[in-house]
Amino acid sequence: MSDSFDVVVIGGGPAGYPAAIRAGQNKLSVACIDEWKNLDGMYAFGGTCLNAGCIPSKALLESTELYHRAKEEFAAHGIKAPDVTIDVGQMQKRKAGIVKTMTQGILALFKGAGVTPLQGHGKLLSGHRVEFTAPDGARRELTAKNIILAAGSAPIELRSAPFQSPYIVDSWGALEFASVPKRLGVIGAGVIGLELGSVWKRLGSEVVMLEALPDFLAVADQQLAKEALRHFKKLGLDIRLGAKVTGASVAGDTVNVTYTDAKGEQKVTVDRLVVAIGRRPYTKDLLGSGTGVELDERGFIKVDHECRTAAQGVWAVGDCVRGPMLAHKGKEEGVMVADLIAGHYAEVNYKTVPSVVYTAPEMAWVGLTEEQVKAQGKAYKVGVFPFLASGRARAMEQAQGFAKIIAAKEDDEILGVHIIGPMAGELIAEAVLAMEYSASSEDLQRTIHAHPTLSEVLHEAALAVDKRAIDSINR
Ligand SMILES: Cc1cc2nc3c(=O)[nH]c(=O)nc-3n(C[C@H](O)[C@H](O)[C@H](O)COP(=O)(O)OP(=O)(O)OC[C@H]3O[C@@H](n4cnc5c(N)ncnc54)[C@H](O)[C@@H]3O)c2cc1C
Repeated sequence: MSDSFDVVVIGGGPAGYPAAIRAGQNKLSVACIDEWKNLDGMYAFGGTCLNAGCIPSKALLESTELYHRAKEEFAAHGIKAPDVTIDVGQMQKRKAGIVKTMTQGILALFKGAGVTPLQGHGKLLSGHRVEFTAPDGARRELTAKNIILAAGSAPIELRSAPFQSPYIVDSWGALEFASVPKRLGVIGAGVIGLELGSVWKRLGSEVVMLEALPDFLAVADQQLAKEALRHFKKLGLDIRLGAKVTGASVAGDTVNVTYTDAKGEQKVTVDRLVVAIGRRPYTKDLLGSGTGVELDERGFIKVDHECRTAAQGVWAVGDCVRGPMLAHKGKEEGVMVADLIAGHYAEVNYKTVPSVVYTAPEMAWVGLTEEQVKAQGKAYKVGVFPFLASGRARAMEQAQGFAKIIAAKEDDEILGVHIIGPMAGELIAEAVLAMEYSASSEDLQRTIHAHPTLSEVLHEAALAVDKRAIDSINR
């Protein structure tokens, strides 16, 4: 095998593997190095997303959602299923099967695109060189005109609550519980914490979530965040805001957690504790000396708007660079870089990266929040339409939440779209496309939406921007 490539990608997660595939499609010779090892000791492409993040968490969320709906909604449909029970072992087996199929699929995709997979460690050296260390310790030096760093991220550990498996775990550990913890503590009520808390709550855990910030989901539009908090409280999630964890210690089979809030020192005892306070860029043993690649003060690899690092021919994409830590953001960056290397036109529109929180109800948004629009001093209009007024949502027994569209007063351009309700993560795609083409709310108003569909909620929210909604009273 040649050790010289047009492109070498270090990292085979959702940022790295699409970069390698696109480079192959662009007729470049390309290798993709990845060192991810699963709990069974097997190497697997796909990174955090496929092995320990997006896919396994959604597999479990789907199972727990079905269980919850069977218990809470079947009766309303006239379906009698009094003895619905759960088998966590089967849920985990199904999840593992999905992960395996998806990660092995990457090898097939690599074959199709002519990508050379290399499982082991990659280290950037100076002068367009990469050191590859195979699992048996054998080292090879590869050369490439272009090198793409896609090393991803790792969970942040809390000094006051260090990981101690299986009691104090990160998000990956929380996806692997073999049984339902009676009492579950979650530190961090962000996107990942909420998804994990929801999974185990729906299976019967008593869930306490400790969030240091005083505001719930501060990154989201606050009207949406308030609605979400109301639903999560109804579900039984015990979300404590302004709660700063000061310590956690394992005692027998339980974990004692101490924290401070507005009332002073507090204590809570749980059976398992998940630390979900965020992720940090992962660049361990990635950069040799004299590469010229620079890190910022938080450890992210410094890149420009086209993901070029300070070193000629070295690019970086995904979670290890600035911007939201999302799989689809990394994928677009990877594909952009592979196209730029091939001399094609490419760009990423960072203004239209959607965010989705896969809870029930689901949340999704794109663009600016109302708070951000206000802070920018822009004159704006808002249209809100509730799922309560959607025939389809009612038929689905899922009539909760709303869609909200914010448009500029001056030219009606859509500035932000925020959805909480059924299939919000799917519905947001229309808003992303609209914003990608700088659509106005009138453009959405004049677009035909099939009836009865959930997408009509977005249509009506656009109409509500100009107080012309048909299926609700305009105020
Ligand atoms: C529980 C959870 C749920 C999530 N849910 C979602 C979701 O629903 N939607 C979403 O968009 N995002 C989600 N995310 C975030 C998403 O997983 C990340 O944004 C995404 O995986 C980042 O992709 P990446 O390729 O940059 O990095 P990673 O996926 O972290 O992949 C990096 C890869 O590089 C490898 N690597 C690192 N250094 C080296 C080296 N020196 N040599 C060889 N290999 C190396 C790593 O082993 C890894 O395989 C979730 C994350 C978690 C933890």
